[in-house]
Amino acid sequence: MKKYNFNAGPSILPREVIENTAKQILDFNGSGLSLAEISHRAKDFQPVVDEAVALIKELLNVPEGYSVLFLGGGASLEFCMVPYNFLVKKAAYLNTGTWAKKAMKEAKLFGEVVEVASSADANYTYIPKGWTCPTDVDYLHITTNNTIYGTEMRKDLDVPVRLIGDMSSDIFSRPVDVAKYDCIYAGAQKNLSMAGVTVIIVKNDALGKAPREIPTMLNYQTHVDKGSMFNTPPVVPIYCALETLRWIKKMGGVEAMDKLAHERAELLYAEIDRNKLFRGTVAEEDRSLMNICFVMNDEYAELEKPFFEYATSQGMVGIKGHRSVGGFRASCYNAMSVEGVQALVKCMKEFEAQH
Ligand SMILES: *Cc1c(COP(=O)(O)O)cnc(C)c1O
Repeated sequence: MKKYNFNAGPSILPREVIENTAKQILDFNGSGLSLAEISHRAKDFQPVVDEAVALIKELLNVPEGYSVLFLGGGASLEFCMVPYNFLVKKAAYLNTGTWAKKAMKEAKLFGEVVEVASSADANYTYIPKGWTCPTDVDYLHITTNNTIYGTEMRKDLDVPVRLIGDMSSDIFSRPVDVAKYDCIYAGAQKNLSMAGVTVIIVKNDALGKAPREIPTMLNYQTHVDKGSMFNTPPVVPIYCALETLRWIKKMGGVEAMDKLAHERAELLYAEIDRNKLFRGTVAEEDRSLMNICFVMNDEYAELEKPFFEYATSQGMVGIKGHRSVGGFRASCYNAMSVEGVQALVKCMKEFEAQH
């Protein structure tokens, strides 16, 4: 049976990305050696990094004066690298959920943290509005898509200070105004590659202002200077990212990804709103196009497990909600086809008819 992968992360990648990566793992560029067993300094591998950087700059229209890095450690390491490198005295954070809270916790090790607003009062089911960003902070940190709670900010904010964005789960799903940011980071395993690499887009002249010694590996400048080759980078995940970037370009770029994201999400939210068994969990205007959360309506609460089992029997994979929300979460990243969402919608309709 055909499986539809709605996992939140690691998550679905285009089939051809997996196949092309697998081929290179067996025989890299016809060299008779595996991608996994060549030197990252091999003359064949440098073009992989160069092309991946160039494609990121092209797809996101990255202005002059920014560097693109591929580092290890996941987005979680960026929670500490960001304040290490950018926090001079005080930083502002928008608290929209688990990942934002983890980022704030690290920042507090380096200076004063202002929580500009929080939606913790309603289990992060909305994006706070009507707050103002202080002007005396070094940066404002936001999580553009809240993978766990299913809320998203798909417009780049206008604030009086530089932005830093955790875009782990929605990067390359829409055009981004990179010039508004000092730093954008994204763990690759949601929408770009296999786990093991983090993409960082950093403004060069924002570096070097923090009044502290930074360990070499945690200093963005080290990696800017060495083009992500200071130490051994995660070569296979970087190659896999390159294949995804080529795929995104072939599909029509981030504008096409944005259109598809809307199409998928509108289909699924329409069914959640229509179907008597289900309801969405977040404020309508803040609904994520990437991670679509829904629960059983109260009067059908006992059908949660049966629906999960029915959907699983029909090929739906990874739709169980995160434990902090419950119910269901269908993650619809770039590689998820509209057909996959249609299959899930069909399951929901069939299950409704049975009850
Ligand atoms: C998954 C995720 C993280 C953590 O990523 P790791 O690469 O596992 O450290 C951080 N932020 C967001 C928004 C995420 O979705």
